[in-house]
Parts: sequence; structure tokens; C-alpha cells
Amino acid sequence: MTSTGQEPSIFSRIAAREIPATIVAETDRIIAFEDIAPQAPVHVVITTRTQQYRNVVELAAGDPGLLAELVSVAAGIAAERSNGQFRLVFNTGEASGQTVFHVHAHLLAQPGPGSPAGDDSLGEGSLAFR
Ligand code: 5GP
Repeated sequence: MTSTGQEPSIFSRIAAREIPATIVAETDRIIAFEDIAPQAPVHVVITTRTQQYRNVVELAAGDPGLLAELVSVAAGIAAERSNGQFRLVFNTGEASGQTVFHVHAHLLAQPGPGSPAGDDSLGEGSLAFR
């Protein structure tokens, strides 16, 4: 249980190293890791260490600075892996496809030349994630 009385989310458990994941960036308040079921050649989940906010609307209202930090981490990953070009998707609500109710963004991109995400097994062209 967390201090708010909630069970830890799957993302909190990844941040606590209870569940393995390929972590690609971390700050004091943000953690980013490879999505387990990638929908694009570069597909990184970027989330807050706190699970206090269920979605981006709550985060924007409750801690806009933390949302800005999340976007900054996304931009940094994209600068390294996809020439700074990317999509950032926040599924918000079950009907939109949200399955984990701990705010997170999907960073979706094509790998840039020479980037470490050279696996293009998901193909060239437009991103698959919808
Ligand atoms: P949502 O559907 O809530 O927008 O996104 C949740 C994402 O978390 C999905 O893309 C899903 O593949 C990813 N995910 C769920 N469980 C795990 C896990 O245990 N490890 C990792 N790395 N990603 C996960």
C-alpha cells in the first residue's frame, strides 16, 4: 500500500524495481521505460513516480510543473533516439484505451539514423499506435 492507501500500480512497481523493465531515463520525479508491447519502433512509457494523478488532466491541474518535466524527459529521449521528432499520447479514460490509471505518456517515434533503437521490425512509415 502507498501513503495514499492505494495498491501500488504496475508502474510504481516498475519504479521500485519489483517488476523488471528496460528503464531508459529517470529523474527524481519521472521514470521512463520501454513499453512491453511496442506499437512503434520507439515506444517508451514516461510516467511520474507518484501515482497520485490518474491521468494527464489531473496532473495538469495538480502539478503543471511535473507535467512539464515529463514532457522535457520525453523530448530528451526523442533527441537521442528519433532526431527530436515524436508523438506523445496520453490515453485518458477507459474508452480511449487507458488501462493503467497512473498518469503516463506514450512516446512513439521512428528511430533516427544511428539511434540505439535500430529495430525496425515494426516497419517503416507511419506509426501503428492509434
Ligand atoms: P495505457 O493503455 O494505459 O495507455 O498504457 C499502458 C501501457 O503500459 C501499455 O502500452 C502496456 O503495453 C504497458 N505495460 C503494461 N504493463 C507493463 C509492464 O509490466 N511492463 C512494461 N514495460 N509495460 C507495460
